[in-house]
Amino acid sequence: MTLLKIENVVKRFGGLRAVDGVTLALERGEFLAVVGPNGSGKTTLLNLINGVYKPDGGKIYFEGRDITNMPPYMRARLGIARAFQVPRPFPELTVLENVVVGAIFAGGHDRSKAVEVAEEVLRYVGLYEKRESLAGRLTFNELRLLELARALAANPKLLLLDEVMAGLNPGEIDAIAHLVKKLAEERGVAAISLVEHRLRAVAKLAHRVVVMHQGRVIADGPPEKALSDPVVVEVYLGK
Ligand code: ADP
Repeated sequence: MTLLKIENVVKRFGGLRAVDGVTLALERGEFLAVVGPNGSGKTTLLNLINGVYKPDGGKIYFEGRDITNMPPYMRARLGIARAFQVPRPFPELTVLENVVVGAIFAGGHDRSKAVEVAEEVLRYVGLYEKRESLAGRLTFNELRLLELARALAANPKLLLLDEVMAGLNPGEIDAIAHLVKKLAEERGVAAISLVEHRLRAVAKLAHRVVVMHQGRVIADGPPEKALSDPVVVEVYLGK
């Protein structure tokens, strides 16, 4: 069954149609990169998927269930997780404790199982060696990995990833994209990632690229195809 289905979704802010009739479907284990110029509606689309915004029109289904009007915490319980929006770990807790908290509250595990899950996801993202460090001491890159580990501790089916922004170098941005691809392929975790920086390098790792422009999807397909679409080159990449 299709994991996520978005049908003709519209979100307005006053007279502006930030998302203007978007339709797309996502399968389990699929890594989708959403690209498009600043202001094209990418963040609003993520906020519609996790329930921060309710659409003014259209429907959203998760595993066949209509979630259009479901509050964010219930979507999280169904397996929709968000990372990188505002990295806000508890700085006075260790890396491990931060993930344990996530595993208890979002993952619903008891404490000993939560520690086991937390250690496992920290190994997976490459932060295990830092597990006893205070979160407040981490570099930007390590904070992004901690965010990802916290999201993974809830055992999500769909990861929503905001643009990985300032403070990361190109190698670090690419490494996170590789990790997301690995999660999709090894664990079947679908991911929707917003991409503005390192566009070509990151989008090439995705299974599929959706290009947005003025709230609409103007291209949707394999990376090479979507990024070379003449309309995309004209309105976006050609600038
Ligand atoms: P992107 O993530 O592609 O940069 P956004 O989804 O953030 O684009 O924004 C799409 C459009 O909606 C922009 O014109 C932006 O100014 C507008 N917008 C986004 N959020 C709000 C809001 N909360 N209130 C009013 N306008 C908004």
